[in-house]
Amino acid sequence: MTEDLDEIAQRVSAARAATEARGETFYPGASRVHLAAFPPIERWDDWVELSSRAWPAREERHYMLVPTTCFNCESACGLLAYVDRDTRQVRKFEGNPEHPGSRGRNCAKGPATINQVTDPDRVLYPLRRAGRRGEGQWERISWDEALDAIAARIRKALTEQRHNEIMVHMGRPGEDGYTERVLASWGVDGHNSHTNVCSSGGRAGFQFWMGIDRPSPDHEHAKVIYLISAHLEAGHYFNPHAQRITEARQNGAKLIVLDTRLSNTASHADHWLSPHPGSEAAINLAVANHLIQTGRYDRDFVRRWWNWQEYLTECHPTATQTFEQFEQVLKNLYADFTFDFAAAESGVDAAVIAQVAELVAGAGTRLSVHCWRSAAAGNLGGWQVSRTLFLLSALVGAVGTEGGTFPNAWNKFVPRPIHTPPHPSVWQDLSWPAEFPLAQNEMSFLLPHFLKDGRGKLDTYFIRVYNPVWTNPDGLSWMEMLTDETKVGCFVALTPTWNESAYFADYVLPMGHGSERHDTHSYEQYDGQWIGFRQPVLRTARERLGEQVTDTRQVNPGEVWEENEWWTELSWRIDPDGSMGIRRYHESRARPGEKLTVDEYYGWMFEHSVPGLPERAAAQGLTPLQYMRRHGAFEISRGQGALHDREVPASELAGLAVTPAGRVYTRAPAPESPNIVPTGAPAPDGEGRRPVGVMIDGTVRRGFPTPSGRLEFWSSTLAAWGWPEHALPGYIRSHVHPTALKPGQVVLLSTFRLPTQIHTRSANSKWLDELAHTNPVWVHPSDAARLGIARTGDLIRVETEIGYFVAKAWITEGIRPGVVACSHHMGRWKLSGHDEGGVGAMMATVDLRRGDDGWSMHRTRQVGPYQSSDPDTARIWWSDTGVHQNLTFPVHPDPISGMHCWHQAVTVRPAGPGDAHGDIAVDTAQAREVYQRWMEQTRPADRVSPDGTRRPKWLMRPLKPSADAFALPAGSDQ
Ligand code: SF4
Repeated sequence: MTEDLDEIAQRVSAARAATEARGETFYPGASRVHLAAFPPIERWDDWVELSSRAWPAREERHYMLVPTTCFNCESACGLLAYVDRDTRQVRKFEGNPEHPGSRGRNCAKGPATINQVTDPDRVLYPLRRAGRRGEGQWERISWDEALDAIAARIRKALTEQRHNEIMVHMGRPGEDGYTERVLASWGVDGHNSHTNVCSSGGRAGFQFWMGIDRPSPDHEHAKVIYLISAHLEAGHYFNPHAQRITEARQNGAKLIVLDTRLSNTASHADHWLSPHPGSEAAINLAVANHLIQTGRYDRDFVRRWWNWQEYLTECHPTATQTFEQFEQVLKNLYADFTFDFAAAESGVDAAVIAQVAELVAGAGTRLSVHCWRSAAAGNLGGWQVSRTLFLLSALVGAVGTEGGTFPNAWNKFVPRPIHTPPHPSVWQDLSWPAEFPLAQNEMSFLLPHFLKDGRGKLDTYFIRVYNPVWTNPDGLSWMEMLTDETKVGCFVALTPTWNESAYFADYVLPMGHGSERHDTHSYEQYDGQWIGFRQPVLRTARERLGEQVTDTRQVNPGEVWEENEWWTELSWRIDPDGSMGIRRYHESRARPGEKLTVDEYYGWMFEHSVPGLPERAAAQGLTPLQYMRRHGAFEISRGQGALHDREVPASELAGLAVTPAGRVYTRAPAPESPNIVPTGAPAPDGEGRRPVGVMIDGTVRRGFPTPSGRLEFWSSTLAAWGWPEHALPGYIRSHVHPTALKPGQVVLLSTFRLPTQIHTRSANSKWLDELAHTNPVWVHPSDAARLGIARTGDLIRVETEIGYFVAKAWITEGIRPGVVACSHHMGRWKLSGHDEGGVGAMMATVDLRRGDDGWSMHRTRQVGPYQSSDPDTARIWWSDTGVHQNLTFPVHPDPISGMHCWHQAVTVRPAGPGDAHGDIAVDTAQAREVYQRWMEQTRPADRVSPDGTRRPKWLMRPLKPSADAFALPAGSDQ
């Protein structure tokens, strides 16, 4: 292989020499260098392939290749649309070699975008409810009718000062800040996200350390890779990370994986640890203790970058305030976390944990770590899993080093948009309630309970790339909320396909897939920064052919629109004459008084906010927008290194003030470039100076955006906001710890997904559905024997706190005894007697009833072959589409991070004679009781806030309100 690449490199050199000898410019881009099999970019306007269907005849097909970005997970890999020059339709999608993150490679879900585009069941026209909500009666309407009606509602709510009755609930954002900008322009704190059912637990642990909520591991250069997630198959940014992990392993890196299941990722590990769910932090602390007790940590890094002085001052004020004293305290702090203790908690052999600890000790600064969803999303106190994992990086000094782990902001770039509305001056208590002042993200999954509590109501509620009835726990409480017009006045579903929530909407509005819309994004996938550009590929193809396209609906199927143009149009109709101050954020700068177009929005951004892009574009005779339309992505920098260690220039140090703990404040204005280093998270000091860095050995360095400017081993925030006992990296026993289980109960591990499906978004891909369509429950043979489950495929009943589901068993040694596991991506359903349709290949038809003792769901029809415009739907050979387990889970909000703790203590038994596959029963009254029990664990801001605010201002928050809105309302217990 190496020789082949050498040969290719030689041929490329020869081609360059020949091109330059002709006086022409040779394009040195990715597609000509590292993957010569990709079509070179200079031939993207007319790429010729032979038709496979015409074989053996040599029939040429001419394509225009247009880059875009995959929207089937958060990795945002580059795609190339093959647009047939004759039919002007997309023939297929392959990888974009110009994309620095994915480097031309995709998982199965990327090319399957073509299935979504051609899906015969997709929603093509705006629809309005014609009968009762959820009754299944719809009428086709025009976009104008939908826009006018919705805009009128929002305008009325805003003029009546009911700002908190407008909410947009985001699933996968797939973009950086556009929707938040729209909501800010309306002056509403209406952004809601899915993050507290997804990654908040993982994020919180990193945020308390770094002030930044995501890690950016440099897997490619690591010596040891330590994963508490499934990064080779489904974790965060998994394709870009997986290819780099694979390369590192080819270079000798060792892979440690903590995963209770034998996942695909675990199957590649050098050391696979299968812990009891929730014990992962105990293992991390045993490894940390080994490093500490044997002195195999980076003393100088710890001395310079940890906030140990602050910790000693606050928690050991009578001790000698020296680093040596801190080291002694550190030894005592973790002495109880022996290998034997971790083994007793986790069930993993102590000798195996010792081997892993030795590997970590030998990694030096080339230890890359990641923890996402998984254990951090499954357990009470799961955020301590990522906090203790990063403790290992912080001990060995593998932070911002080659082969180490970076704060994600070092490797991500968010450009400034053309208009920046001010922060809204209101606070949305339905998303950020007082009980959770430290919640990592919006308490989205508690919304039905908050409305049942009578805390408020919603006038207009949007969902967007989101299916709360299906994705969240306790989905039937969501259904009760969405069908109650006194709680939700108008429910708008922005979606490309029917889903379990859209059935209860008032408006279903068709939005585009990944090749039918504009977005920008940038994600931390290696030590560098890039920006990617999603675009409607047929629009770009037609513009390349000289046609003018002014509205994406002109090229999308049916009347499918893109969100950006929709939000602009809606904002104009809310404020038609500009008197509300909204319209100006959606107006052209170049043509005042006219609507902002997507070309101007992105053209301005690429011209003014992306360093290096205008110059690179000019070198190719292109505008920055043309460059992005042509390449699909741009690498801004590579090798960022340890930005926290950079000296702050003297020009930024005017009016310097230094706290006793070394935090440095300045009066100098913030630097122009927003992405140099985010230092400004803490509030200004009493003199109005802003934080600019931290004093390290007499030099002002950028530091981290934490209150101390250092890595926070001890969190003054947790200590001051009511949780001093958890201010250090520690171990919180999970709600599914063995001591919390009732006799006969086992743990249901419910947080994993299959590599070829992702929530609602991918189910309308026939290729993916054929690959993965069901979710049997993993049961260890010893448990199967104990429970009387004879063979794989037998029906079992899994009983939770609020109901049960009936599924098939898969008897496998790939799960540890005492734990069962079920993927959360299956069990899609549509209601019987409805005409809407759904996703024909993946949605079973169900009868859903409400009786005195709660809800019951029963399958009336499995999926099977059917006639449609796609002949493949007549070839569907599967009928089992799995079970919707999430409906049977009550809410479990972690009192600190706010994360829903997904794992369940369940009783598993063979199905009874009346049970059928897919049956579900749920008592939402019991769901209320569980909600109330978990709420009792919280410590509300009005009891614990040290400064009369609702939340520490330095903590991250999407769409942050103005500083005034942080004040607790008058009359709270302050
Ligand atoms: S679904 Fe696959 S191809 Fe698409 S962004 Fe995610 S990893 Fe990349």
